[in-house]
Amino acid sequence: MPNAPLPFELSANDANILAHLGDEYERYDGAVIQPIFMNSLHVVPKDQIDCQENRKFHYGRVSNPTVDLFERKIAALERGEKALAFASGMAAISSAILACVKAGDHIVCVDSAYGPTRVFIDEFLVGKFACEVTYVDGRALSDFTNNIKPNTTLFYLESPTSMTFKLQDLRSIASFAKERGVKTIVDNSWATPLYQKPLTMGVDMSVHTASKYIAGHSDLIAGVCAGSAEIMQDVARVREMYGGILQPMEAWLCIRGLRSMGVRLATHESAALAIAKRLEAHPAVKAVNHPGLDAYPQRALAKSQMSGTTSPLSFELDCDNARARDFVRRLQWFNVGPSWGGFESMVTVPGGDSALVRIHVGLEDTETLWQDLKESLDKV
Ligand SMILES: *Cc1c(COP(=O)(O)O)cnc(C)c1O
Repeated sequence: MPNAPLPFELSANDANILAHLGDEYERYDGAVIQPIFMNSLHVVPKDQIDCQENRKFHYGRVSNPTVDLFERKIAALERGEKALAFASGMAAISSAILACVKAGDHIVCVDSAYGPTRVFIDEFLVGKFACEVTYVDGRALSDFTNNIKPNTTLFYLESPTSMTFKLQDLRSIASFAKERGVKTIVDNSWATPLYQKPLTMGVDMSVHTASKYIAGHSDLIAGVCAGSAEIMQDVARVREMYGGILQPMEAWLCIRGLRSMGVRLATHESAALAIAKRLEAHPAVKAVNHPGLDAYPQRALAKSQMSGTTSPLSFELDCDNARARDFVRRLQWFNVGPSWGGFESMVTVPGGDSALVRIHVGLEDTETLWQDLKESLDKV
């Protein structure tokens, strides 16, 4: 039998949310893990055919109990009223944006946002729906106050940004946006809902790829978006019509990922900081971009809006692109690839004429990872 819902206090304690929210499903017949509701359909008892609209679950493109449990956990972690899960981070991002803009609207977007987010805005919103976009650095509030236009409806943020880890001042941007009736979305994938809670700082929606830290094992693609009940109604409409809901098996794996997210992140955090500090001190490294470093130019802002830092970080080598690529080729412990957030350490290959390398510090032995980096750095 399902248990009664947990007492409300639990919903303000992240560790308890990760472990226990959803116990009303978990305890079914003593099962310690919640079941997967692997069904597309919920049927209606004959005596309820006149009140079908009030049913929470009816069709799997709209809602599903396992997906709902994942969503309730994310909503509680984000301190939002509602969260919705999607088949990918990009489905969550594009749906959240579509809930805020219509043809002809203007968006102010941070210039170093996740690449495919920019492609979605450029190719689809600008290319097909005559929207306008202004890309800004985002580190100054004036990037937003100076670029707002009469048709601006959205400030799209990502803090920290993907390759360069630049921050935006979430509180002051959200407050300015509210005064002007502009919506704000922040991609919160790097900090996760454990280390940054944008909704508590006035941001309208927090979006995530769940493929990275939330699922945490490089074994699935998922996304999630959280906000007020009111704004999430518009996002739910987009999800229902574009058909981008997360599937039950993936939602169940995301719930499993959440159970260990706290301990995984603590290890990623300390390992990444230890490596960032040693990179800073190495003569072949010109600069390290990691908001956890004391020398990071936006360190004070990082501390004021994040309670912790995670692992992807980037650094500029003191050499040309060809030598930076050689540096990557020599690494033994870092897989070359675009993703992050799993057990395995990753590295991206610098593009163009840049010598900017991004690494994800995984959960392998930190000393081994550093020796690997050091041996290759010594040859730059
Ligand atoms: C990977 C990523 C996404 C996209 O997520 P998918 O699950 O791959 O669609 C969005 N934002 C950031 C910051 C990412 O790293």
